[in-house]
Amino acid sequence: MTAFSTSAILLRRLDYGDFDVIITFFTLERGKVSVIAKSAKKSTKRFAGILELFSELQILAGAGRGKGLPVLQEAVLKQPFSAIRADYKKTAYASYWSELINSWIEENFKQIALYYLFEHVLYELDAGNTAPQVLNLLFQMRFLSLSGHRPNFNHCSLCALELEDIKEEAIAVNLQRGGIICGKCSGGASSRKLLAKGTIKQLLWVESGQLAKAARIKFSQSALDESTNFLEEFVCYHLGKQPRSLKFLRQIRQNS
Ligand SMILES: [Zn+2]
Repeated sequence: MTAFSTSAILLRRLDYGDFDVIITFFTLERGKVSVIAKSAKKSTKRFAGILELFSELQILAGAGRGKGLPVLQEAVLKQPFSAIRADYKKTAYASYWSELINSWIEENFKQIALYYLFEHVLYELDAGNTAPQVLNLLFQMRFLSLSGHRPNFNHCSLCALELEDIKEEAIAVNLQRGGIICGKCSGGASSRKLLAKGTIKQLLWVESGQLAKAARIKFSQSALDESTNFLEEFVCYHLGKQPRSLKFLRQIRQNS
């Protein structure tokens, strides 16, 4: 790997030996990348305390020895996003988004749209203008779409009846089928999960509207709650596990 310079958001840090730290960044130019930061653990001068979770940096990394990890050579702070780390609730949301990117995205696979999405939700979370729960819907809808796991909200997943033509106001959603099921196809099973038709339309808007405006959409509390439950379950289903950070996030939401 040759030397490279890129914007990067810090996803994860892991102490390595007595002096070094292995850092996983989500970068604009190369997608997810792990690098080694020599002497970052002890020396306060080397990177002057800027290698913090969720911060956005401009980094320069060079080839490591042999097949070793690239070595972090320079890092300049672009956005500290320090209001996120100062608030445990915001930290819980940012940790969840970071874990989704870290566990779902392959290394060295450039994904510019996902980078700008992640940067946008961190910026909004840090600024505090938009409710974290709404940003979470925005992130999950667009992340699922960008990673090829978009829930099908446009038509019945079995008979393809269009959303507009489905008469029920509460529509069944099915994780295995990946989306909505019309009343005729779902057969009124009592254990099914339901989403209000209006909620589904709002989620479609959150997914496809302008990124800067999408977070301004007003959700009722019930729409917010049912969307949150559905999307988090949908994510766990496709990931095949419950992210650790999601467990923490759920505990925090219950207590607040
Ligand atoms: Zn159907």
